[in-house]
Amino acid sequence: MSTIDSYNPADPDDLVASVPAAGTAEVAAAIAGAREAQRGWWALGAAGRSLALGRAAAAIEAAAEELVALAVREVGKPVAEARGEVARTAAIWRYYAQAPFAPAGEVHEPAAGPGLLLTRRRPYGVAGLITPWNFPLAIPTWKAAPALAVGNAVVLKPSSEAVACALRLAELAGLPEGVLTVVPGGAEAGTALIDGADVVSFTGSTGVGRSVVAGASGRGIPVQAEMGGLNAALVLPDADIAQAAAHLANAIAGYAGQKCTATSRVIAVGDAYEPLAEALAKALGQTPAADPAAPATVCGPVIGGPALERLTGAIDTARAGGATVLAGGARADRAGWFLEPTLLENVPAGHPLLTEEFFGPLAVLLPAADLDAALALANDTRHSLSASVHSRSLDVALAAADRLDAGMIRINAPSSGVDFHLPFGGAKGASYGAREQGRAALDFYTAARTVSVLPAGEC
Ligand code: NAD
Repeated sequence: MSTIDSYNPADPDDLVASVPAAGTAEVAAAIAGAREAQRGWWALGAAGRSLALGRAAAAIEAAAEELVALAVREVGKPVAEARGEVARTAAIWRYYAQAPFAPAGEVHEPAAGPGLLLTRRRPYGVAGLITPWNFPLAIPTWKAAPALAVGNAVVLKPSSEAVACALRLAELAGLPEGVLTVVPGGAEAGTALIDGADVVSFTGSTGVGRSVVAGASGRGIPVQAEMGGLNAALVLPDADIAQAAAHLANAIAGYAGQKCTATSRVIAVGDAYEPLAEALAKALGQTPAADPAAPATVCGPVIGGPALERLTGAIDTARAGGATVLAGGARADRAGWFLEPTLLENVPAGHPLLTEEFFGPLAVLLPAADLDAALALANDTRHSLSASVHSRSLDVALAAADRLDAGMIRINAPSSGVDFHLPFGGAKGASYGAREQGRAALDFYTAARTVSVLPAGEC
């Protein structure tokens, strides 16, 4: 049997986990076990499921520092961000621990005559979850917790690069056997999960997401996919340039730009260009790529050698085409997969940096003559996940937000980051199907049944 090996990106000789890889047969067995366990899980009732999810939250809180250290080691998440992710993970379990008591349907008046019309939402059975490595605890949680709260069992196929985090998370959750099963594996395991689950939720890259949607919808089962972004930040001439630069540096370099909501295109309107270029280059220079275990680190390593090569290759071809490096532009002088936070201007039209997600601490600075031109540039992509607008005028910022193609828009804040109880998802090609998080997630993992009740004895 092959193994899934996960390495520390800050120290590529450090093997974090090596576990047997699940193939088609193992995934099918996990789904069968989950189907069996789901009956007992549903029979626990709202109070029983609520208690179990609350206990999972408490166990995660008790093991917080252990989980922080594991996330730092396995995916190179800077320790301050890792603490935030673990706290958020526990909060999501707590939030959904209340969900079993949420209304599970509606009551309506019949169109005519006596009786009662109602809807009841019911779980599908087995939820198949496929997750990326970049939020190794929070993303599995924000899919699993709502699916479980409403009575599904879960089979989770995590990213190979984050397998240790997923296994430890499921262990700590401590749910009855078969209710939350992790299947380490790659594309074969993912395909087997899509082939056997009753509902599928995916987060990851755009290409894989589209194939997951095709596979699940071909089987006629509900599917949602959250995919990559090419996120724009619009900086207007009236913005507080120092504040905008600080927020943008965080959105570009934080966690080495490996958030789906990271900023990769900075669009400076009119006179904002020169002062912003200077302030942003300086701010990025103050967040050098550094050891993710050090408390002050903002930008850690990228996930692996291929990612680093893709990034440095893109910088090289952009420079060859006339681009100028305003900050960074090269590997950091240390072992591991580190790129200095990078800002480029004059990137040639059509270069992949302007059309594809690169998932690293790298952004392109673009000029726009006015707000209309800035919006046209920002919306010139299918990868429309998140955006930010920086302006002192709330009227202008809200009007811009209204015209931006993006699922999540932040005003005078980094494009990255969103509260866990609000709908999460992108526009155009960044997202497929229902939103994640909040109430929307409870609806996604259940189907409504319409029940009509007539008085007995009436014809
Ligand atoms: P990825 O697409 O390489 O992998 C995601 C998951 O899909 C992994 O578990 C992987 O093993 C699995 N997989 C790979 N091939 C498969 C196949 N053929 N069938 C089924 N499953 C398959 O993504 P990644 O590198 O782990 O994560 C980074 C990507 O995730 C970035 O593009 C990022 O933008 C995106 N992301 C999006 C969001 C969002 O909510 N929009 C959040 C986080 C990350």
